Amino acid sequence: MKEKTMVMIPGPTPVVRSIQEQMGREIQAFGDPRFVKDYKGVIDDLGQLFGCDGKTFVVAGTGTLAMEMALSNVTKRGDDVLIVSNGFFGDRFTDICAHKGLKADVLQAEWGQVVSPAEIEAKLSEKRYAAMTVTHVDTATGAAADIAAIGEVMKKFPDTIYIVDGVAATAGEYENLAEMNIDLLFTASQKAFGVCPGLLLLWANQKTLARRATLGVIPEYYCDFDKWAPIMDDPSKYFATPAINLVWAMQESVRIIKEEGMKTRYQRHLKNARAMQKALEALGFTLLAAPECRAVTLSNLIYPQGVEDAKFRAVLLEEGVIVAGGLAAYAGKMFRLGHMGNIDINDEVAVLSAIERALNQCGHTVPYGKGVGVYLEEISK
Ligand SMILES: *Cc1c(COP(=O)(O)O)cnc(C)c1O
Repeated sequence: MKEKTMVMIPGPTPVVRSIQEQMGREIQAFGDPRFVKDYKGVIDDLGQLFGCDGKTFVVAGTGTLAMEMALSNVTKRGDDVLIVSNGFFGDRFTDICAHKGLKADVLQAEWGQVVSPAEIEAKLSEKRYAAMTVTHVDTATGAAADIAAIGEVMKKFPDTIYIVDGVAATAGEYENLAEMNIDLLFTASQKAFGVCPGLLLLWANQKTLARRATLGVIPEYYCDFDKWAPIMDDPSKYFATPAINLVWAMQESVRIIKEEGMKTRYQRHLKNARAMQKALEALGFTLLAAPECRAVTLSNLIYPQGVEDAKFRAVLLEEGVIVAGGLAAYAGKMFRLGHMGNIDINDEVAVLSAIERALNQCGHTVPYGKGVGVYLEEISK
């Protein structure tokens, strides 16, 4: 294996040097006024960047804990929840509901497609749902839901909390709570923020906080909004030890995002994704996600005839790039490539070039530079 391996799975994503350096800083006490100021700054910046009129939570944990935190603070046992599933992570919500004694109805899209806003509207009209979850980008399929159009539908259902799982989307795809009528959004540090794993981010608007207030004491302890809210207001207070170096790493990520601008960052992801996708199609891959719902943060690529999955990924690793395998019915038939966060043209050229080398070693002959050429043509437009 190469000394240097590019991590191109859909999370963790590459961590740029300036973010990585924050992880190596000398520790400070969580009550140190310097850290308190840094933590507060990150919380406030994130709230502003994503149009949140309520509270922003920055807490140690992964995306899965954020999924649990979301449902725990807006539902009680026996409530009806609508799950809009476009793949593997949508299905995880069903499992969480089962554990929590929530009654889950599932709208399931065929893999590579997304559930339409019209189907969602029809389902919501059947009964009162306490909450609805939508996975913005499902990592298993590479399909992106139209969360803005769904937000329009949600205006007709003010009793339902609109939850968006942004774990493979937030800070790559465009998202804004106020503009899109989203009530609760969450993500994790290791995806499009390009930070090491270990931090969850969760935005709850005023409507969500009002719902939490109606629930009284909830069974969950660590992920209770009421435990964390005073700390988010004043991080010099203690509830549980913050992940200090991760907070600094997130502060640097947020600084990069503010400098780039949210909309510019999305445009960069969009242009890069479409160029990558065109290049990979030119090399013989088929995209699982339909053209009208393709994510900008990752691509799920079905192999050309005759290319064997385990061998391809092993050779690609030898060539210095690690990607993820397909899930469920697509295990062995597809690989998953992340292209989100703080990546640039040079990274992508290197990735495509390694893919070309791996294809040639796996019996699928392609001219060297073919994918790279298509990519550069597109990205230079
Ligand atoms: C990665 C991911 C998760 C889970 O996040 P973890 O940090 O691995 O717990 C949830 N939802 C989506 C859409 C994801 O891509």
